[in-house]
Amino acid sequence: MSEAAGRLVIVSGPSGVGKSTLVQRLLHEHPELAFSVSCTTRARRPGEVEGVHYRFVDRATFQEMAARGAFLEHAEYNGNGYGTPLEPIHAWVAQGRRVILEIEVQGARQLKDKQSALGLPMRFVFILPPSKEQLAARIQRRGTEDEAKRLSRLKIAERELEQAAWFDVRIVNENLEDAYAQLVCAVRGGGG
Ligand code: ADP
Ligand code: 5GP
Repeated sequence: MSEAAGRLVIVSGPSGVGKSTLVQRLLHEHPELAFSVSCTTRARRPGEVEGVHYRFVDRATFQEMAARGAFLEHAEYNGNGYGTPLEPIHAWVAQGRRVILEIEVQGARQLKDKQSALGLPMRFVFILPPSKEQLAARIQRRGTEDEAKRLSRLKIAERELEQAAWFDVRIVNENLEDAYAQLVCAVRGGGG
């Protein structure tokens, strides 16, 4: 992906909508993009690699990082802490790199509210499901959550979907190829 000033591209949307699928492909096909590896207190899923998908930390470490201001944003989601480490975001943006953040909606809102104070150009992208039924089916098919966690993720999704309106770009992930093409455009596009 050519030209361009550095910026953050925040990819958000409900659990199961396909954020990871889209972002992993984007990073694979565009290795010049930087990916912000988040910290989380949640347990590692099979196939997830420490330091690649997440930095898996215990609750004490997460709280200590939050207390000393080591996160650009952080939020509680479904009983676990998730946070974007401040380092090395500013350095990447200063180098002109586009930095992908895959985060939930509360964290995206924090960044939106702090955008001018942080002095970082940002673009906010919301991934929508074709329908609530298909969202439920995808979470179930992924098979990473037990029944209770799956249902609570769906409940959270109801509230998250109400937030789509304030994002700069909305992409419906019905056909994966179409959604991916739109994401590439959103990351590549000009402006801030
Ligand atoms: P998220 O990161 O938003 O929680 P995932 O990327 O893990 O979501 O996707 C959830 C499930 O939906 C996965 O099993 C994935 O393969 C599937 N999926 C993603 N995009 C599509 C799509 N366009 N059509 C059908 N299934 C999809
Ligand atoms: P999961 O447990 O499915 O990996 O992630 C749950 C939710 O947390 C997803 O919406 C994911 O995008 C989000 N998330 C991942 N990293 C961060 C982060 O650093 N900050 C915030 N606020 N959310 C995150």
